[in-house]
Amino acid sequence: MFDDHRSKRVVIVAHCLLNQNSISDGTADFPSQYTELMDLIFANQVGLIQLPCPEVACLGLDRRDKQGGKRSLLAENTRIRDLMSKTGRAVLQDKAEEVATLIQEYRLNGFKVLGLIGVNRSPSCGVETTTKDNEEVKGQGVFIEMISEACHRRGLVVKMIGVKTSETENSVKRVQQLIETPVISFSGTPRFP
Ligand code: SF4
Repeated sequence: MFDDHRSKRVVIVAHCLLNQNSISDGTADFPSQYTELMDLIFANQVGLIQLPCPEVACLGLDRRDKQGGKRSLLAENTRIRDLMSKTGRAVLQDKAEEVATLIQEYRLNGFKVLGLIGVNRSPSCGVETTTKDNEEVKGQGVFIEMISEACHRRGLVVKMIGVKTSETENSVKRVQQLIETPVISFSGTPRFP
């Protein structure tokens, strides 16, 4: 099955890495996509799965404060994290389950899910760092935490890395490593026993 021209390799990316229009006010570094990363992924013939933007889903494009972009980045990230944690969990839970189901589906059908690329320092999509209490700290954003938990419940092991649009050299290097590293392809508990 699937013995055609597809590469059978996919990677999951945070929404704004393909669409900077979704990012919070004052923080877009590019007009549209993070070209250096996307070019690398396409050149390696890896299919892209774009995550939904959890903040747009829960808070809208203005993150429920049209003046938010006037705050310092870490203060605004903290406000967003607190709001997401209080009011966004039900919406995010469903989306996190959908992501885990999709990963499981690809794995069960013999595809390689190379990993997930999040956005460090984000209160929602941070992987190695996030924002809490006006500081960039080690830890995951709210949405990535929920995806990790949903995968863990299914026995799925998924490599996750975080990038920053302001650190292109390091981001490209890390994505290159992700693409080249052999994948642990345990597919978790079968969905259709
Ligand atoms: S980091 Fe996550 S929440 Fe923030 S804009 Fe990107 S996709 Fe949306």
